[in-house]
Amino acid sequence: MDKLLEVQNLNIQFDIFGTHVQAVRGVDLELNVGETLAVVGESGSGKSVTSKAIMGLNPSPPGKVTAGKILFEGQDLVQYSQKQMQKIRGKEISMIFQDPMTALNPTMKIGKQIMEGLIKHQNMSKAEAKKRAIELLSLVGIPNPDKRVDEYPHQFSGGMRQRVVIAIALACNPKILIADEPTTALDVTIQAQILDLMRDIQKKTGTAIILITHDLGVVANLAQRVAVMYGGKIIETGTIDEIFYQPKHPYTWGLLSSMPKLHAKIDKLLAIPGTPPDLSDPPKGCPFAPRCPYAMKVCLDHMPSYTHISETQKTACWLLDERAPKVDPPKTVGV
Ligand code: SF4
Ligand code: MG
Repeated sequence: MDKLLEVQNLNIQFDIFGTHVQAVRGVDLELNVGETLAVVGESGSGKSVTSKAIMGLNPSPPGKVTAGKILFEGQDLVQYSQKQMQKIRGKEISMIFQDPMTALNPTMKIGKQIMEGLIKHQNMSKAEAKKRAIELLSLVGIPNPDKRVDEYPHQFSGGMRQRVVIAIALACNPKILIADEPTTALDVTIQAQILDLMRDIQKKTGTAIILITHDLGVVANLAQRVAVMYGGKIIETGTIDEIFYQPKHPYTWGLLSSMPKLHAKIDKLLAIPGTPPDLSDPPKGCPFAPRCPYAMKVCLDHMPSYTHISETQKTACWLLDERAPKVDPPKTVGV
């Protein structure tokens, strides 16, 4: 597969009132042409910070990349100036956020908002850009696009607004679309429609997607690969099948246990007790240790290195050490 993006040993620190918060600690990620990679974790796991770094969007200060590389088609975006990033953002790499209302300008017709990027990045004339805006609205499933192109955001429902946001993000045919909790603000039926739309669009355009979410249910039918983040680190990564059917990390087990099951007889959801680590004073051992029912002494003192389960799956957990006791995933993990 062709590598489009490669994040290597990324470290991001936020300096807040003299405290150094190590939000991202040694993250490696790969994104291939045309694929969907889901980055999953609770809030504060570092998933949004990582995706914003790819866009050059972390506020600096207080945020800064303290080590690592973000290679896009071989070029290190960490070294790019804001001016250079402006040429990448919206054109090569686009992002859609959780809340479509804040992403849109309420005082501007939606057609104009789509046309902005086309005029700026693609040197289109106004007439060409408007024609393309109408095509894009139709691509994202908005009925009567030639009429609706002249309407304002408040004239659209929440789900339709998110479709408009996706149209804006796709306007310049980006190679990568980063979707940060794209459906969290929407109700369940609309969520499913937006996910269907993203899958459709990927088929039509070949755009690679990085899907950031706390919800493994959202991941299941959209992504091909999953990276699970916890405490600023990737603790497990694998294909969809590996993560859903043979997860090895207790935190992944916890996430799967807290996911609603399609055919479950009991509809009890198990939340993972406890809170994520304080990254202003990161644990020296496994970040999940205080919440992990299987924690051993070694877990508190030493960060586990990755065990390669397969060519595509790797997991950072001491349970995979040959000296560790054999532990099976809890029954609640089954999907
Ligand atoms: Fe639990 Fe230890 Fe594995 Fe961390 S390394 S997830 S604490 S068993
Ligand atoms: Mg977030």
